[in-house]
Amino acid sequence: MGYLSGFIFNIIDKINSQLIRRFVQLFFLGIVIIIGIQFYDFTAQLENGKIPDIERPPGVEAFLPISALVSLKHLFLTGKINEVHPSGLVIFILVCFSALLLKKSFCSWICPFGLLSEYLTKLNAAIFINPLKVPAWPDYLLRSVKYFLAAFFVWSIFFKMPANAVMQFIYSPYNVVADIKMLKFFTDISATALIVTIVIMLLSVIIKNFWCRYLCPYGGLLGFISLFSAGKIRRNSDSCTGCGKCDRACPSLIKISDKKIINSDECTACMKCTGVCPEQNTLELSILSRTVPVKPMAVAFILLAIFAGGITIASVSGNWHNKVTKKQYLIYMMSQGMLNNKIAIPAMRDNIKMEKMRKMMEMMNNGKP
Ligand code: SF4
Ligand code: SF4
Repeated sequence: MGYLSGFIFNIIDKINSQLIRRFVQLFFLGIVIIIGIQFYDFTAQLENGKIPDIERPPGVEAFLPISALVSLKHLFLTGKINEVHPSGLVIFILVCFSALLLKKSFCSWICPFGLLSEYLTKLNAAIFINPLKVPAWPDYLLRSVKYFLAAFFVWSIFFKMPANAVMQFIYSPYNVVADIKMLKFFTDISATALIVTIVIMLLSVIIKNFWCRYLCPYGGLLGFISLFSAGKIRRNSDSCTGCGKCDRACPSLIKISDKKIINSDECTACMKCTGVCPEQNTLELSILSRTVPVKPMAVAFILLAIFAGGITIASVSGNWHNKVTKKQYLIYMMSQGMLNNKIAIPAMRDNIKMEKMRKMMEMMNNGKP
């Protein structure tokens, strides 16, 4: 009877952990799609030379991690959150904070690319009877690529970029419209970018988790931060039977069954391992020690609380919406040659001389910190 109830308890836990996680992933994907549609509309109006009649959704800056890194340095230099992409910095800080609390939970609970990667992995399982396994040493070498990429960005921005270059970059026309350039990357994708994207997706089908495991610099940065995470998967070696189910379930290929604490930088707190463990109170995600286990619903709640709380604080303190007006957006887009030439823009271009625009931009930039 005890075994049966334990079995049922674990089945429910297993279903719950992945259902709850999927729900959270889809929830954030839904937000990304809504933001994308609104931002697409905002950008289309600008491209047609109009002052948009809708607001720009600030959350779009989540896709500007390099700009956020520069913003972080700007914050250290000035003590202020910049007014160009403040939400990008806020989201970046919240993501890093989540890694300090719950490993790389951002990757497996929130990131839409992580979700796509999971579905490509499912395709891998559906296509290949014996999926390709990367041998240990190439796997080790490839895994380090994302850390090199992350280290390169951190080193270039934090150690090589002079303070005045940080200021210039933050208020440069390029950075102001970086969100629009990022959108155009997806909507007007170049042949090269398309080929690279297709190759990475194909590789992600052939090799499980290819992008996340080997290439994503954001994942590399979070992997490093997650080494200091308070929350970790912990195994009770007294009640563990050594069945190895957790090892087989782990999408990050971590050997769980011979460790008491999973310190691995690859752990994304996906809780697949805790879901399959047949023994009660044996394998759990817990904070600081095994005395504070965190169930999947609690992980979902904590992550939602981190982002909802952080965004609310940023909004109330005036650090969520940027201070770039729609008119400024239009001028900056003209200066970057990003307006739709076919629609009444030549006349505008003729009327507003580039020299005059440069002076206007200088005026806008003056007085900024
Ligand atoms: S150790 Fe567990 S929580 Fe971490 S990635 Fe592997 S299955 Fe997911
Ligand atoms: S699934 Fe549970 S019992 Fe089996 S090896 Fe992993 S921790 Fe031990």
